[in-house]
Amino acid sequence: MNGGRGHSASSAALYLDHNATSPLLPEAREALLDALDTAWANPSSPHAAGRRAASVLDRARRAVGALVDRDPRSVIFTSGATEANSLALQGLVCPERSLRVVSAIEHPSVRAWGDLFVPCLPSGQVDVNALEQILAIHGSQVAVVSIMAANNETGVLQPLDSVAKSLRSHGIPLHVDATQLPGRVPVRVPGELLTLSAHKFGGPRGAGCLVVPARLQPRMSGVLRGGSQERGLRGGTENVAACAAMGAAAAAVRTVSPASRDALEAACRELGAVVLGAGVPRLPNTVTALFDVPGDLLVMGLDLQGIAASTGSACSSGAAQESHVVTAMGQSGVPLRLSTGWDTPTQIPGAVSALRAVVARTRAAVGEEPCA
Ligand code: PMP
Repeated sequence: MNGGRGHSASSAALYLDHNATSPLLPEAREALLDALDTAWANPSSPHAAGRRAASVLDRARRAVGALVDRDPRSVIFTSGATEANSLALQGLVCPERSLRVVSAIEHPSVRAWGDLFVPCLPSGQVDVNALEQILAIHGSQVAVVSIMAANNETGVLQPLDSVAKSLRSHGIPLHVDATQLPGRVPVRVPGELLTLSAHKFGGPRGAGCLVVPARLQPRMSGVLRGGSQERGLRGGTENVAACAAMGAAAAAVRTVSPASRDALEAACRELGAVVLGAGVPRLPNTVTALFDVPGDLLVMGLDLQGIAASTGSACSSGAAQESHVVTAMGQSGVPLRLSTGWDTPTQIPGAVSALRAVVARTRAAVGEEPCA
C-alpha cells in the first residue's frame, strides 16, 4: 500500500484508527518534554518551583476550557476518560437519588455503572422517547443521566439537545462523554458534566478531564479521596506534564476533512457492506461497516498491507467479540471500523484498492464467491 503518508508515531503506512488513539501532535510532545524539564515540582507546593508547575497546570486548564467553551475552573484533570466517566457516575449518587441512567451504546466505562439503560434506534441514535418513559417512572430517583456525544464505534452523533430538553423538567444533571468530538467536530454540547480524553485529539495517553461546574460541586463527591487537588474531586498530585501536553493539544487541535472517510465509505458500499449509522449525522472521520466476512479478518488483511484499522472499539477488537453497539442497533457480526484523522491524506486511492483486494481475498478464503 503506497497511498498513505507515514507517521513517525505509527509503524503503519496508513493509520486509520484515530478513534482508538491519535498520534501525538508535535505541540503536545514539545509541551510534554518541556514540562518534564521545567515543571517537575509539586504544583501544590508553595515555593517558586511549585508555583511554576501550578502555572503550567493553569495554562493547560485554560486551554482545555477554551476547547469546550467552559469555565477553566470547572476542568478536573484525571488519568483519562475512563476515570472521568467513573467520577461522573459515582460522584452524584446519594441515598435519595441512587439510579444512573445510561444509554445502551455507551463506552464500557459508562455502561459498567448503568442501572437503567436507554435503548438505541436501528440508526444508532439513542431513543429519546424511551428515555422520557424511563424518567416518567423513575425520574425522582435518578442521580445522573449519561449519554455520549458521538459513539466511538460508529461515529453516530447523539441527539443531545433533545436529551437535555427531556431532562430539564426533572432537574437531573446530564453527563456527556465527549471523548470522540475534539479533532472531529467542535465541542459545543449541552451537559453539565463533560468527559474528554487527551489521546483522542493528539495529546498523550493517560490524561483526560471531567468538566464539573461549580454549582454541582456541593452535590459531588470525589472518587480518589484524601487529597485536596482538583477541588477535592480528584485527590493525588497531578500529572503536570501530561496535563500540559493535553492543554497544548487542545490549543493546537487539528480538524479532519471528510474527504478520505467519504472515499472509504464509498468503497465499502461498492463492496456490498452495510454502513452503520448511514443516514444520520456522524463524525466526519468514521466509517464502520458490516461485510459478509468477519471484520477481524479484514483488520488482519489490512494490517498486512500496512493499514491500521479496527473492528470497533479497541477494547473488544483483540477478542473480536460482537460489540454491544452492533447488537443494540439490531445488527449482528463483527464490523470493520476505519477512522481517519488530521494526518490522513484526503486522496487515498491506495487504501481503497487495498480494501477491495483484502475483501476479495478474505471472501475467497472463507469460501464465498470472490468479488468481481
Ligand atoms: N469513552 C469513549 C467514547 C472512548 O472512545 C474511550 C476510548 N476508547 C473512552 C471513553 C476511554 O478513554 P481512556 O482511554 O482515556 O480511558
